[in-house]
Amino acid sequence: MDERQNQILLALRQITEEVSSQTSVEEALPLLCQRIRQTTKADCCSLYLADAGKKFLRLSATDGLSKAAIGKAVLRIGEGLVGSVGKKQQLLDLADAPSHPAFKYLPDVGEDEFFSFLGVPLLNQGELLGVLVIQSREKRQFGELEESFLVTLAAQVASFIAVNNSNRDSQSNTSRYKGETGTGGIAIAKAIVWQPGVSLEDVQILYSEERELQQELFDQTLFQLQTEMDRVALEMRENDKTAAAFGYMSGYGHLLDDGEFQDEVDSEIIEHGYVASSAVKIVIDRRVKQAQEKGQRQLIFDLRDFGQIIVSRLVHTNSKDVELEESVVLVVRSLPAAWVAELPRSKIAGFVCLDNNTSAHTAILARDLAIPSVIGVHLDFSSIDGHNVIVDGEHCQVLVDPLPSVVGEYEQLLSQGREQTNLYSAERLEKGITLDKKRITIQLNAGLNHAEDDELWQQTDGIGLYRTEIAFMLAQTFPSEQQQIEWYTKLLSQFKSLPVCMRTLDIGGDKGLDYLPIKEQNPALGWRGVRVTVDQPQILKTQLRAMLQAQRQYGNLEIMIPMVSRIEEIRQVKNVLSDAKTELEEQYGCTIRTPRIGAMIEVPAIAYMMKELSSLVDFFSIGSNDLIQYMLAVDRANPKVSRFFDAFHPAVVRCLAELAAKAREYNRDIAVCGEIAGSPLGALMLLSFGYERLSMNYSELSRVKYIVRRVSVCELEKIGAVALTLDDSTAIRKLYSDYAQSMGLGRIIELLEKQNLEQ
Ligand code: PEP
Ligand code: MG
Repeated sequence: MDERQNQILLALRQITEEVSSQTSVEEALPLLCQRIRQTTKADCCSLYLADAGKKFLRLSATDGLSKAAIGKAVLRIGEGLVGSVGKKQQLLDLADAPSHPAFKYLPDVGEDEFFSFLGVPLLNQGELLGVLVIQSREKRQFGELEESFLVTLAAQVASFIAVNNSNRDSQSNTSRYKGETGTGGIAIAKAIVWQPGVSLEDVQILYSEERELQQELFDQTLFQLQTEMDRVALEMRENDKTAAAFGYMSGYGHLLDDGEFQDEVDSEIIEHGYVASSAVKIVIDRRVKQAQEKGQRQLIFDLRDFGQIIVSRLVHTNSKDVELEESVVLVVRSLPAAWVAELPRSKIAGFVCLDNNTSAHTAILARDLAIPSVIGVHLDFSSIDGHNVIVDGEHCQVLVDPLPSVVGEYEQLLSQGREQTNLYSAERLEKGITLDKKRITIQLNAGLNHAEDDELWQQTDGIGLYRTEIAFMLAQTFPSEQQQIEWYTKLLSQFKSLPVCMRTLDIGGDKGLDYLPIKEQNPALGWRGVRVTVDQPQILKTQLRAMLQAQRQYGNLEIMIPMVSRIEEIRQVKNVLSDAKTELEEQYGCTIRTPRIGAMIEVPAIAYMMKELSSLVDFFSIGSNDLIQYMLAVDRANPKVSRFFDAFHPAVVRCLAELAAKAREYNRDIAVCGEIAGSPLGALMLLSFGYERLSMNYSELSRVKYIVRRVSVCELEKIGAVALTLDDSTAIRKLYSDYAQSMGLGRIIELLEKQNLEQ
């Protein structure tokens, strides 16, 4: 590599870093032009940005042209050299630009003296964002080095601009911020920025002569915290929020019960003379370091949150100090899960958390308590206080200073949502029977939210997917057999006359356990699901033993195996199950019933082995979330490619139709438990291919049941046959949407489409 190449490469890195460290596009763009001009030794560098309608390109920054033309010089897409780079989305490198037929002279811009021209388009996900241009007085072609420099830089600048565009609504001053996790529905209120009176990081290391007094202060704080947590957990249990109470306690409960933690803090106070808050900080910092060395991410969050809570109590500034007159949206840097549980719901409409370093328990609790929240939002903490905000937990976004029309839209969504919920819930105890009298089994997907509603079992036909890993994720170590027996018994007893399908531990991919860290380049294709459990048969055996013991009284257990990609995996799990059964029969001296066993169809390969699978299992359940991800090669968690995650893709539709037909041919039940089963159009599509078993989240149950009761399978089957002849996802979706309209379900579809438009 010659020296010039080296310089260019170095400059490329520096410019990218400098530009992305600017807080706004307005600051970043002039800097970008200046640095590009210097690096390429051109006489001018300019950036033209496309308008929202993609009709014009406007000069937005320049180093070399007249500054007065910024914002004023405008070219239509296709007009002049800049417009033609934008239209063709292709680079243009010319030694003598004015002699090019497309050249267009713009007065007052100050281009007269330039001859050479190099323009590259700024593209993000196929969309034109602008054109970047360098020009020089000398009649010379810039050449390969400058071309590749500008093309590389354009790609990086485009994604910077795209992120900023998505934050700013061009029609108003409304800013829209995407978060990383969203929970609950919608909250519309004023934002109140809240910071703890003292944060753990800011605690100073101070000494005190009154060692006994400091120790007493710490012990009392701990005692009060324990009492307070017990009270809140009890209240949650009394309000049927058993699962939330479990999540609440499991975050810090183990730290409160940890005698060693208390001893360590006591000894820092008594032996070294630190004041109580300093001693807490020292011990927490030490433990965080140990947890970091062991890669225990969740424990680190829990420790920091726990330390923050104790320190706030020690200096008397806990969440209760927020004095509020009206319902607000709380904006915080980070929010310990314990405080989520304690938020005064009548005063807190929702919350926004800036840090994504927030404990997973915070999101789980917010979800469980149905508090609208968005976590991991990059917005300016200092400028949001007192502004109107909309927290859209469903689409994981926050709108700051929304226009009245946008607020109106959201209010309408809220009230339509409420109206429809009332409509659906009037029929929540009815069965899923279609107009032509086909009985559709409608089941629940559960993880944590299972124990909240006494009437729940009457609203469903059982549990179609119980994600056992959720409880594992909230624990600090692998749960014991006894602990698991308690969890499973509770669930089976709640649904005693109905089937409960428990999935064996499905970790890996996006679901990690702190105490079994899995670090992989490509986790979606890595050690996950059944691959983990067959490699760790003792974990699997403990889980299966617990399930078998829990069902002894009830007999309504079904077991299903996630992420099956090879027939041997089923055999291996069945062998472990058979060993567990034999052991327990010896232990209890009686026969233990073998539950129905199912395989999840989530890996495309296994869809071609339905015959062999049928000889090994009693039923199938399609995990459409993963099946679509693997069929279409689209990461289900990557927002950049979410538009390609398409349940109506003709290949997906044909695969689903074939799977239903194969299951019928081999006389096996087949269900769908991925998200598609709970979406109105998705459910119609499944019915059209003969699916009779759908399993979904609680919030979708009554809506799907309402729809099922208003459609005819016979008619849907005709639509299904047409869908299989089409090669275009939009046309397939339209078939089902038109049918829904014709059956009087248009408003449901419209409302959902409207919500999706907000995404
Ligand atoms: C699925 O993949 O569709 C599924 C139900 O499993 P999970 O979403 O838990 O991976
Ligand atoms: Mg899955």
